[in-house]
Amino acid sequence: MKKNGVYDMALEQLDATAKRIKLNPDIHRVLRHCEKELTVACPVVMNDGCIEVFEGYRVQHSSARGPCKGGIRFHQSVSVDEIKALAMWMTWKCAVVNIPFGGAKGGVQVDVTKLEKEEIRRLTRRFTVNIMPIIGPHHDIPAPDVNTNAETMGWIMDTVSMYQGATVLDIVTGKSTDLGGSAGRREATGRGVMLSTLELLKRWHIDPEKISIAVQGFGNVGSVSADLLHKEGCRIVGVSDVSGAYYNPNGLPIRRMLEHCQTTKHRTLDGFDAPGVSKIKNEELLELDVDVLVPAALEKQITNQNAEKIQAKAIVEGANGPTTPEAERILVKKGKVIVPDILANAGGVVVSYFEWVQSIQSFFWDIEAVNKNLKKVIVKSFADVWELSLRERLTMRDAATQIAVQRVAMAMEERGIFP
Ligand code: GLU
Repeated sequence: MKKNGVYDMALEQLDATAKRIKLNPDIHRVLRHCEKELTVACPVVMNDGCIEVFEGYRVQHSSARGPCKGGIRFHQSVSVDEIKALAMWMTWKCAVVNIPFGGAKGGVQVDVTKLEKEEIRRLTRRFTVNIMPIIGPHHDIPAPDVNTNAETMGWIMDTVSMYQGATVLDIVTGKSTDLGGSAGRREATGRGVMLSTLELLKRWHIDPEKISIAVQGFGNVGSVSADLLHKEGCRIVGVSDVSGAYYNPNGLPIRRMLEHCQTTKHRTLDGFDAPGVSKIKNEELLELDVDVLVPAALEKQITNQNAEKIQAKAIVEGANGPTTPEAERILVKKGKVIVPDILANAGGVVVSYFEWVQSIQSFFWDIEAVNKNLKKVIVKSFADVWELSLRERLTMRDAATQIAVQRVAMAMEERGIFP
């Protein structure tokens, strides 16, 4: 294991919870391990005829509460250490919102900006075949994550279907609605971020129209979060992506920014300009004087290097693992509230659960039903975490992890260890 890797960070959170709740040491020992880790090499014939080999992983952390569930990301920084951490967080995420899934994650180490679409398609199909021995509608169900989307899920679904000789809708979630996807799935993670933010504001008795927000990341999670929070009346003053950070203290034109992304090669904000908008450094975005900061990019963005400089009163984690434990200690000491990833960004997997149910039944819900049920789950889960955090004087992360670990431990105790 890489020292100071992301998996160490996930273990540190688990160990602290285990100690606090006096978790059965046998259960704790099992949960510190991932059930299954598969590393695969994916050779791809590139458009110039050369063969490139990309390494990929699928990790299942726990199936105690149901089939494993989690996304697949394509990114140059992917490592098995990172995928293991993300798989463990998926276990907690599914448990904290009480959906009947365990946790998994997958990824391929690849810089998608250097590949043509056809090459990405061949890579996706080869990766799918390589992980097919361990995925399945009742074993492990992939979904989109960083740099993957409904189109990628369609390719995965088709690849598995070709092998089965029949269309297998329930093998992935996050498909397009033309291919049995759920209404509202694409927006679900951002919608969950918006709903969690509103729940927090309600408890603080603050009107959404009175708050300013900065969002790091303008991919699927960041852009939808910014858009929906903007529609709720919040002032989005800062937004960033790989092309830079954009700032307007009076509020950014989010709609126009979304439209701009449709015109650029990698769907970034590159070249965006509008009256009153200035470019700032990406690091500066995190340190803006705002009420709420939504980190919606990658892990380890708020560290002991910048935590002291964070001015936001609340951090709502759209990304998985954006705050390191050292940074969290600094932020908590300063009185900041962190709505943790396993709660704040759970909207995606909640609607994935709805999609899986719809795919199995071949009976599809309308958008109103999806959004209503999503809201019910997020509002209830937020309340559970908030109340426990007040009752036991815990951070929201500790409270959420505690609820999740207890639910997983309960399932393990009841099932017993095989044989
Ligand atoms: N990749 C998303 C996450 O990190 C969604 C996972 C899923 O829907 O299975 O929560």
